[in-house]
Amino acid sequence: MGLFDRKEKYIRINPNRSLKKTVEREAPEVPDELFAKCPACKHMIYQKDLGPAKICPTCCYNFRISAQERLSLTVDEGTFEELFTGLETSNPLHFPKYQEKLQAAKEATGLDEAVLTGLAEIGGSKIALAIMDANFIMGSMGTVVGEKLTLLFELATEKKLPVVVFTASGGARMQEGIMSLMQMAKISAAVKCHSNAGLFYLTILTDPTTGGVTASFAMEGDIILAEPQALIGFAGRRVIETTVREDLPEDFQKAEFLQDHGFVDAIVNRLELKDTIAQLVAFHGGEK
Ligand SMILES: [Zn+2]
Repeated sequence: MGLFDRKEKYIRINPNRSLKKTVEREAPEVPDELFAKCPACKHMIYQKDLGPAKICPTCCYNFRISAQERLSLTVDEGTFEELFTGLETSNPLHFPKYQEKLQAAKEATGLDEAVLTGLAEIGGSKIALAIMDANFIMGSMGTVVGEKLTLLFELATEKKLPVVVFTASGGARMQEGIMSLMQMAKISAAVKCHSNAGLFYLTILTDPTTGGVTASFAMEGDIILAEPQALIGFAGRRVIETTVREDLPEDFQKAEFLQDHGFVDAIVNRLELKDTIAQLVAFHGGEK
């Protein structure tokens, strides 16, 4: 019976220690780069399932991609020649910390500004090409973006080349104020000269294309394409709702809505974009 008559305690309990569990478990960590949340259908998608073109397998939303990724998906390999690099803004408003912000964007994206410009070939046709990158200060248009695009149109006019522009932008760049807004008129004048010379201009609106970019060269293409479910608009949804005091439709400012209302000629999936551009450029007199 001595079994139940233990005098020694086999487990010593530290009198200073609370028996309550004090360590709270942290949620297991999932590396950010492993999964992506689709902004359109909100599904979590395994990154590898997006593929190099980064298309949502659930709803076909075309994820935002960098200018370099766009380049490799679109132009004939080894044909891109970058032009108009090394331009710098003078920070006309002396906006605080603007130069630091620019420097950080340059390092993060490997670009010198929010637009990549140059000459390239698509389907064997020579074109002047511009690709905007939303990762560079939201693809905003300041004086350098305006100057690069203007120079591109002037060169295309001189060389009689079609222009292809991929837009992705939050609009005019706040840090350069009115100087940014002036770029809308400056680029538009260069687009008009190019058009007067009978040359072809194609825009592809990608997610997001908004503000001063939509209100100028993005909507001046002879043909305007868009990627599926891209956000395209001028003012933001909330601004419009509070101004007109009306509820807006769910798909308001989506590429599909704009196509239904005649602002976009066609919506083309990213995988078919290269062939579509090649056909359009060849059809409108692109030089081989
Ligand atoms: Zn989706």
